[in-house]
Amino acid sequence: MKYIVLSFTAIVMLMASCSKKENLSNMNNTYYGSYFIMNNENKMVENDLKVIIQNDSIQLIENDSLLIKKSYKIKNEKDSIELQINDNNDFKIYFIENQNTLLLKGYQQNDIILYTYPELMKNKVAEYAVVKLTANIQHLSDKDKALLSKLFEIAPIMDELYWEQVCPKKDSLLQTITDENAKRFFIINYGPYEHLRNNKPFISGVPPLSEKMTFYPSDMTVEEFEKWNHPDKTNWYTIIRRNEKGELISIPYSEFYNDKLSKAAQLLDEAATLGENKSFSNYLIEKAKSFRNNQYFNSDMAWMDMKDNMIDFVVGPTESYNDGLFGYKTSFESFILIKDIDWSKKLERFVALLPKIQENLPVDAAYKAEKPAKNNDLGVYEAVYYAGDCNAGSKTIAINLPNDKKVNELKGSRKLQLKNIMKAKFDNILKPIAQEVIDESQLANINFDAFFENVMFHEVAHGLGISKTIKDHKLVTDVLKDTHTSLEEAKADIVGLNIVTWLYDNKHITEHSLLDNYVTFLAGIFRSVRFGASSAHGKANMIEFNYLNEKGAFTYNEKTGKYTIQFDKMREAVSGLANLILTTQGNGDYDGAKDILKNMAVIKPQLQQNLTKIAKAGIPRDIVFEQGKNLLGL
Ligand SMILES: [Zn+2]
Repeated sequence: MKYIVLSFTAIVMLMASCSKKENLSNMNNTYYGSYFIMNNENKMVENDLKVIIQNDSIQLIENDSLLIKKSYKIKNEKDSIELQINDNNDFKIYFIENQNTLLLKGYQQNDIILYTYPELMKNKVAEYAVVKLTANIQHLSDKDKALLSKLFEIAPIMDELYWEQVCPKKDSLLQTITDENAKRFFIINYGPYEHLRNNKPFISGVPPLSEKMTFYPSDMTVEEFEKWNHPDKTNWYTIIRRNEKGELISIPYSEFYNDKLSKAAQLLDEAATLGENKSFSNYLIEKAKSFRNNQYFNSDMAWMDMKDNMIDFVVGPTESYNDGLFGYKTSFESFILIKDIDWSKKLERFVALLPKIQENLPVDAAYKAEKPAKNNDLGVYEAVYYAGDCNAGSKTIAINLPNDKKVNELKGSRKLQLKNIMKAKFDNILKPIAQEVIDESQLANINFDAFFENVMFHEVAHGLGISKTIKDHKLVTDVLKDTHTSLEEAKADIVGLNIVTWLYDNKHITEHSLLDNYVTFLAGIFRSVRFGASSAHGKANMIEFNYLNEKGAFTYNEKTGKYTIQFDKMREAVSGLANLILTTQGNGDYDGAKDILKNMAVIKPQLQQNLTKIAKAGIPRDIVFEQGKNLLGL
């Protein structure tokens, strides 16, 4: 970790309100905050800061190690009070707003705001904008409405099961929390670990999150697991425990969670008798069987076979991200979804044009000779209920399932785009970000349809371009190794924008201007790199920003700190970057890919300034749902 040791000194200034002034000399408080810094591997890391003020001493603690402990004296007691801690002046500490907030000015070249615990929790809850989950269900028949209503009884069971998996002590822990906002934040995160900050605990005294979660015995070692010979140990749907002799055993979810899964299975069977759509009923029946016999292959296949269903229902143990140890064990979740018929049809129409779009990619013929991959079942939905894993912390805007490779080989996979969730994130996050960084003259070009198209054609674009190198027909993903995912994400973004450009030129998109897509795309970059550029998506966005910047695709007003898209240059740059990435992929040019990442997947000072400005604007980081069947009028 890159770390600058400061010769420590601080002047503390108290700018407290008059009424509180008499308390200044005997205040006791702990303040919490954090800041980002680039480490030696060029990665942004977040360091935690804590300032403890007790009687006449002040302590500064960074990442749990004490950096400074000093006594301080009050110098004067007018509007502000200076407290001399040391002789030098490397940074200053200010107290503001009735001592709830403290400003560390100039610390590690940052101005860091720290808060008392209640204030911190209040702010953290406010980082999640509250969104009501609704959809138009007028086109549904009474039968389908009855079915939908039944699904609202099943999904909460997945919520309970998820709590059991990630925080079995929910009730007793909740009882120990007195701060109302901390309670609320606990519910948002399904436990005491903050999702948007790498699962750091936010309740004092809580140990760091175990990567074993509840999936494995806490005293099990990796070596013990690896030596253990059991056919089911890596099964996605079993939990590992010890028997009376202390030996490892693998227990099927159907047994371990028998009560709740039996109940859910019974309700699924009931739901299957209610609806209009045969293939959907069949899926529900198969899912009920899965809950009873712990075999999910048939229900995954049945989910792939669904046709013309108006309602969709993802239910059961699904993703395995919470198994931090091996990534085998799945967590319970549920989505209730209503199909957006207009958009699904529109998308079908666009997907049919893909061969033509591939032909027109801005690259030499050899690099677009492959047939576009078939995007089976790319659908658009409104989500009306999230439960369990998908509802914890950050909310997903798209579903790509099933995960079973055997099912993928036989039937492919389905990609469900959740339009109302995208709209909620667009309204609550992207629009306010655009206010900070997009020139006023182009703010009107920030447009949801354009945003939605950009996101959708990103998905579609993964299937375009080139998957095997031209010379020796090796898989691009194998040849480009560690550079592949970032480059592929950048490809999807920029080829997606090429698709939009082509659709616009050929009058398939007529509702708004192409400039909307470009301006919205630029604002989207800030949204993606807001939390650092370490993920593949983050790196991809940095590559795009730096490339477009270099080509003059936008201009920057130093005074306002805002950007303006230069339409013609943007258009050129959009095909230029597509060309660069597609040829790098087609040539299997690993060194070239490495250079692109090294030179372009970085946050330069100007962008860092923009990001700091965004960080200070108090824009929500994610969304949290108000949901239930009553919101649909059921
Ligand atoms: Zn992607």
